[in-house]
Amino acid sequence: MNIILLGPPGAGKGTQAKMMIEKYQIPQISTGDMLRAALKERTPLGLKAKEYMDKGALVPDEVVIGLIQERLKEPDCSKGYILDGFPRTVAQAEALDKVLAGLGSKIDHVISIEVDKSDLLKRLTGRRTCRQCGAMYHVIFTPSLNKDLCDKCQGELYQRDDDNEDTVRNRLEVYDAQTFPLIQYYQQKGLVRKIEGVGSIQQIFENIVKTLA
Ligand code: ADP
Ligand code: ADP
Ligand code: ZN
Repeated sequence: MNIILLGPPGAGKGTQAKMMIEKYQIPQISTGDMLRAALKERTPLGLKAKEYMDKGALVPDEVVIGLIQERLKEPDCSKGYILDGFPRTVAQAEALDKVLAGLGSKIDHVISIEVDKSDLLKRLTGRRTCRQCGAMYHVIFTPSLNKDLCDKCQGELYQRDDDNEDTVRNRLEVYDAQTFPLIQYYQQKGLVRKIEGVGSIQQIFENIVKTLA
């Protein structure tokens, strides 16, 4: 099962992907996580990407396409995967189609998670992320038991540099201009399943599972 999770920043893609990993036993592939990992290692690619991420702009297509191309060849992708945060432009989607055709593979489902803009701003500015395991929390909606520590691994919770109000506003504009058109791109291929992204995390997950059944 090769799945794309589509939706604006803050829609809950990462939150749902983490639950899907357990249920379906397939990996989550997040270009955002890959870029942040490269930055943590201080690789040239990571340092270059940071300039774009800090502004809330997209990293150039060829950079993320290269990352994905390599990642999809890994053996753990053979039974399927969840793409989270990729593709984000029509050029990326077209490149993905080419890569997959070369591997004799294709996308099976595109889950489009829908949330209003006013909710997204609140979600992103209140998001906290575990430095150790990547789990997501929200200071109001889904707080951890101990304010600064992850419930799952006791790792330190931090606020991403790009989760401040100014950068978030820019990311939402970039989404509208560059990523939103992908819904139509995949609708033309008959792959899009829309999911209401507001409500309990568990209920949204159950709706995704039903859609994939
Ligand atoms: P994305 O990966 O799409 O950017 P995340 O999964 O990181 O989104 O979620 C963004 C923020 O919203 C996080 O703080 C997360 O805890 C919170 N969140 C996720 N799903 C919901 C939900 N259904 N209701 C309220 N808050 C949510
Ligand atoms: P969110 O979960 O809030 O949507 P991500 O972690 O997916 O955020 O992305 C954070 C940043 O990383 C983006 O604002 C962008 O700068 C960069 N990025 C991640 N994925 C891509 C991509 N597919 N194309 C271009 N830039 C990307
Ligand atoms: Zn953790």
